[in-house]
Amino acid sequence: MNQIKVLIEGYAKELSNGWVASSTTCLIMTGDKKIITDPGCNRQRLLEALQREGLTTDDIDFVFLSHCHPDHVLLAGIFEKAKYVTFDSNLVYDKDLMVEFDRHILGDGIEIIETPGHVLEHLSLLVDTPDGKVAIAGDVIWWISGEKQILDINQKDRSHSKVMNMEDLVASRKKLLGLADYIIPGHGKMFKVEK
Ligand SMILES: [Zn+2]
Repeated sequence: MNQIKVLIEGYAKELSNGWVASSTTCLIMTGDKKIITDPGCNRQRLLEALQREGLTTDDIDFVFLSHCHPDHVLLAGIFEKAKYVTFDSNLVYDKDLMVEFDRHILGDGIEIIETPGHVLEHLSLLVDTPDGKVAIAGDVIWWISGEKQILDINQKDRSHSKVMNMEDLVASRKKLLGLADYIIPGHGKMFKVEK
């Protein structure tokens, strides 16, 4: 059965002229693969988190990237042996080889789902675990550090992303909340979906 560990809880503090932010990073362990989701942009925290798990960057088989923002993807290249599943045309990248991916490339019970809105090309993962279905949501759902995590599917996206589409974003939120028992947001704490 798949196991998910949140290695780094994503944070996002707004400054008067920018952000201090890095994404939530998860480790998914399947029977035979180790997958990192959204490695973020804080190298020291990422390396320390891997070390705590007794892992090096070479132990990772796949890296999943939800979308193209640097606070989610900047460190992707440090996993030398990994293949990459990304937002980009649904291709899996293996160094300079790019091939279309099979829906089950990450393993049984791990579904890659399209969740546009925050940006058009945005993917999330839905993972079967012993505790139920867990959505690794990326920035479909996220909070600013320190704010109370009140779920409002119509909440404006605060990223100032030029390509944000509110209608798509609300639809993607509904989709994930309908499918998942737990949500791991792109920035903020994991929470249980009240059904
Ligand atoms: Zn983000």
